[in-house]
Amino acid sequence: MRRPFIAGNWKMHKTIREAVDFANQLKNAQRGYDEREVVIAPPFPALYAVAEVLMESGIRLSAQNLHEKPEGAYTGEVSAGMLIDAGCEYVIVGHSERRALFGEKNDVINRKLKAALSFGLRPIFCIGEILEEREEGRTFAVVEQQIKEGLNNLTTDDIRHLLIAYEPVWAIGTGKTATPEQAQEVHVFIRDVMGKAYGGDVSVDIAVIYGGSVNPGNIGGLMAQEDIDGALVGGASLDIDSFVRIIRF
Ligand code: PEP
Repeated sequence: MRRPFIAGNWKMHKTIREAVDFANQLKNAQRGYDEREVVIAPPFPALYAVAEVLMESGIRLSAQNLHEKPEGAYTGEVSAGMLIDAGCEYVIVGHSERRALFGEKNDVINRKLKAALSFGLRPIFCIGEILEEREEGRTFAVVEQQIKEGLNNLTTDDIRHLLIAYEPVWAIGTGKTATPEQAQEVHVFIRDVMGKAYGGDVSVDIAVIYGGSVNPGNIGGLMAQEDIDGALVGGASLDIDSFVRIIRF
């Protein structure tokens, strides 16, 4: 049985104080919704302070990125071990903003996934097509290639520790959401690809969440789809009232 999974990706927003205030409010609001996995991904400087607030709550902490190496001369970077030390359980890998703005290709994403898994972090592995690819009818081909290259040489056990976030790039931060049916169609395809590569159990068990302009008004329709297990929420996760309405969809 897959558990509903809602994650808030704050991107480069919120000071430590703002993040701590939000976490305190979320902790109160989340009571009674324990059957849902709720995750927030603050920027790096706020991680440890938020982890302290969330201790003994059911809410989990995620980072937004990591470096593939365990340590070394990589100025400005943060390793998987450091994220564990700061209290993270999850890490977002392959977000479209990392792909588009920081040149992350599938091979780098593959190494980051391996680094995260080797330290016991659970990756939220993001994939999705750009508008041009959708319009050219290449959505399935793009998503399949991202999966194959991103997950290259991962074991079935590794796969059991990650989630896939389908995020059509044209729907991220644009206010344009994929319709529930459009998202469902790609989620079914993702399960199919995963089933062929790792077996039927993986295709049934793996959590596949949707991201792209999710808000309190559209979450219900998305979650009503059989193969949508949750949401990765950007803009609408920054406001406590809006995020709480999403978790209580
Ligand atoms: C995201 O950052 O992963 C995202 C989906 O953003 P938004 O909800 O703002 O589209």
